[in-house]
Amino acid sequence: MARKPGDEILRCLPYAHVLTKTQIRKRCHFCFARCDQFEICSGCQTYTYCDIKCQELDWPIHKSECQCLVNVLPEIPSDSTRIMLRLVIRRQNGDDTKTFGANKLYQRRFVDLMSHYSEMKTYRECYDRNELSKLAGNKVELPSHDVLLEIYGKMLINSFQIPDEFLNKIGTGLFLSSSKLNHSCAPNCAYTYNGSEQIIRALTHIEQPTPEKMFVSYIDNAMPSWERRELLCQNYYFHCMCRWCVQESKQIDQIMTSVRCPDSLCFGFSGFTKDESGRMQLLPCSSCGKTDFPVEFGKEALRLWVYGNKMVKELKQMDEKEDHEGVLKLAENVLSEFDESILHKSNLQFIRIRELAKGACIELELWEKAAAYGEQVYMQKIKCVPHPSSSIGLQLFEQGKLLTNALKIEKALGILIQAENILRITHGIEDSIYLELQDLIEQCEDFLNLPNMG
Ligand SMILES: [Zn+2]
Ligand SMILES: [Zn+2]
Ligand SMILES: [Zn+2]
Ligand SMILES: [Zn+2]
Repeated sequence: MARKPGDEILRCLPYAHVLTKTQIRKRCHFCFARCDQFEICSGCQTYTYCDIKCQELDWPIHKSECQCLVNVLPEIPSDSTRIMLRLVIRRQNGDDTKTFGANKLYQRRFVDLMSHYSEMKTYRECYDRNELSKLAGNKVELPSHDVLLEIYGKMLINSFQIPDEFLNKIGTGLFLSSSKLNHSCAPNCAYTYNGSEQIIRALTHIEQPTPEKMFVSYIDNAMPSWERRELLCQNYYFHCMCRWCVQESKQIDQIMTSVRCPDSLCFGFSGFTKDESGRMQLLPCSSCGKTDFPVEFGKEALRLWVYGNKMVKELKQMDEKEDHEGVLKLAENVLSEFDESILHKSNLQFIRIRELAKGACIELELWEKAAAYGEQVYMQKIKCVPHPSSSIGLQLFEQGKLLTNALKIEKALGILIQAENILRITHGIEDSIYLELQDLIEQCEDFLNLPNMG
């Protein structure tokens, strides 16, 4: 059956999943729902469930895990150690050789997943052996180191961060069915989550979807081609040959790395790409076609790129420590440096720093300022990501909310309708975030339709 944009293709429950540390006791450990009234596991007094039903569904795995947790409490081991233990328990229960998935096309067994064990053995950091042994204690018998490495490899390559509706990480999950789908930087399918359940939708028209014809993006694709390929190679051990990395890489890299044409009468921009050997190649001006740029121009474009990456990293570290004032101050300094530089407004480093400044403004409740940063972000970012992009959809939604907070209702409504056109496809019309968006649209419409009291 053909699928149109927004149609659901597949739903999968995780083969193994854990809540991230900060979410334990705040959500159900089986379905990840937020609840006020929980059933707390009487064994470990740690994992909580919506009700007996969720607890029973988690019990085949939690039964052994529960005793292990008791061993190490009050300490709670890292997410990766806890999911490793769950995978070991699955293996002990004989689940690793069972076929999972209701739809025949997407059925898979854990033992059939790729692990890239040999590549990993040579240069990847290992799982935390001590933490895992301590957690397993004498309650769960660990297999040999080689088997554990194999499991660890499968976990690294096939697991996903599970986000809440605002894209904050709430857990990690490994899904067997969707692990059949390959990566593309310009995918035709996208994931969303309903608690711990993964939902895959078509982003474009797909005639007779099969796993071979469906592509999802494993990474945040707002990165130039060489950075995407490096990340994919490091984490998933393949060299991306998607449309975006092959046919369209120069055009998109140019936008992401854009620097203003040195000809003062030209409004175009140049930019650069890197070939497979890492050599930088400056690209012709988008407007006048000039290619004979001075050597210094190319050097400066590269320097600013490297500097941008460094500042983004620094700002993200500050953000993790919740130093919002610090983030805003530093981001504004960097932005004023950028304003004076050759960077063009669509350069990704500009966008990234503005995104961080916007986030800090939201934390500091500076709505108008946040909206001003937000506007520049989505207008430029839309050029750097394939359409339709859920991150753009969510950003537009956030922008609409900021504008309603600043009482710019008419403008907010226009933006919210743009968000609706995207989220309808990426999230589907039953998704909670989509319903929340529709509510806000209705409120704005009602507000604007109020009879004139004057
Ligand atoms: Zn639940
Ligand atoms: Zn328990
Ligand atoms: Zn690619
Ligand atoms: Zn030019």
